[in-house]
Amino acid sequence: MMKKVTIVGGGLAGSEAAYQLLKRDIAVDLIEMRPNKMTPAHQTSHLAELVCSNSFRSKLPHNAPGLLKEEMKRLDSLIVKAALQAEIKAGGALAVDRELFSREVEKILGAFKHFNLIQEEVLKIPEGPVIIATGPLTSDKLFDDIKKQLSDDAMHFFDAVAPIITKDSIDMSVCYVKNRWDDDHPGDYINCPMNEEEYKAFYKALTTAETAPIKDFEDNVFEGCMPVETMAKRGVDTLRYGPLKPVGLRKDKDHKPYAVVQLRKDDARDSLYNLVGFQTHLKFGEQKALIRSIPGLQNAEIMRYGVMHKNSFLKAPNHLKRTYQSKLREDLFFAGQITGVEGYIESAASGLLAGINMARFIKGQSLLKLPTTTMIGASADYLENANVKQFQPMNANYGLVDPITEKHKKKERKEHYMQRALKALNEYLEAHDE
Ligand SMILES: Cc1cc2nc3c(=O)[nH]c(=O)nc-3n(C[C@H](O)[C@H](O)[C@H](O)COP(=O)(O)OP(=O)(O)OC[C@H]3O[C@@H](n4cnc5c(N)ncnc54)[C@H](O)[C@@H]3O)c2cc1C
Repeated sequence: MMKKVTIVGGGLAGSEAAYQLLKRDIAVDLIEMRPNKMTPAHQTSHLAELVCSNSFRSKLPHNAPGLLKEEMKRLDSLIVKAALQAEIKAGGALAVDRELFSREVEKILGAFKHFNLIQEEVLKIPEGPVIIATGPLTSDKLFDDIKKQLSDDAMHFFDAVAPIITKDSIDMSVCYVKNRWDDDHPGDYINCPMNEEEYKAFYKALTTAETAPIKDFEDNVFEGCMPVETMAKRGVDTLRYGPLKPVGLRKDKDHKPYAVVQLRKDDARDSLYNLVGFQTHLKFGEQKALIRSIPGLQNAEIMRYGVMHKNSFLKAPNHLKRTYQSKLREDLFFAGQITGVEGYIESAASGLLAGINMARFIKGQSLLKLPTTTMIGASADYLENANVKQFQPMNANYGLVDPITEKHKKKERKEHYMQRALKALNEYLEAHDE
């Protein structure tokens, strides 16, 4: 009889893990609570819904998130495959039409006869082989049971989403299309330029606007996804060195913007744009006034407002092995953001490794411990070995992998990291029959 695994959570990690099991001839019951019960951030019943940005970050293979995707491609990742099918142009980033992306994931999983989607909330960690991939917004009852079983060892931080506006409402007599540092191509981003006076007025409005109250809020926001109003309070020029950086964005040689708000395409029909780096939890009225004060957005029609949510994760070094297997039970694996990885692509990568390792566990094979020169291996190693007292979620970055001791220029150094990682991954997989 065909072996079966239960996966709880049909997000990025759960969908990827399901695919890895299905293609290894293991049946999957994927239990997803939406649409019967929604999280505070998801808006659809789709599998692998992207809750905020539509970008999987850099697609340049020598950048850390780009290398992660290259490694995932080598391991036949569902999420990378679906993202490439749903890609929309965004300079050096891999951005997708979020609706097409989720549909592609559903189409590929749905094509397996031994795939079974169950739409209900799970209240307790199930018996039998199971992968928990319920994400940073795991429903309360299940999270309570996880805490109970893992001796209350859970933490949280706060994370905000960015607003989306319609393209029709952007004033293109003020804004212009251009990618940073790229004068030769038409460009994918719409830029809203500000002069010094406009920036200072915008800055004042942003730093004095009222934020929406959030239940249980404490000021521990994640650096990589910080609300724009929190970042602004660090100093008047912080945004000009961050999301509103004007360098490389001149319209022509005589144009010298003081700051630039960038808008990124959000759908393949090219009708929606998100404000890049503009995650916020200002009150909706304040957001509207602030967005409409940006040059070119005076008539902006807002389709989704920014909001902030509490993200929960486990103190992984106490509970997880670098195979994503729990120390509590050998047939229990965790995957995705709940493990302490941070980001869409990182969550999917952990689902990939958890799925492969669950398949290997079921088949009685040794579990994969990918080399720490690879981005997937180094991220998993971080979860097992990070200092538990200071444990915080982690994006893919070169600080995680084994350092290169020889001296190289910055660009060449990254090239070396990439070549070394892909070689090590290939050799490891060949030695382990993958
Ligand atoms: C508000 C917010 C904004 C974010 N923005 C970004 C961003 O812009 N870019 C980025 O890279 N990362 C972002 N992240 C971080 C992270 O990458 C995403 O949360 C990502 O979706 C995590 O993938 P996952 O598979 O672990 O969880 P999810 O994609 O959230 O999937 C978990 C699934 O489990 C389901 N579920 C939860 N509890 C239960 C239960 N008890 N029973 C059954 N099903 C359940 C949920 O409905 C959900 O579908 C954001 C996170 C949050 C919370």
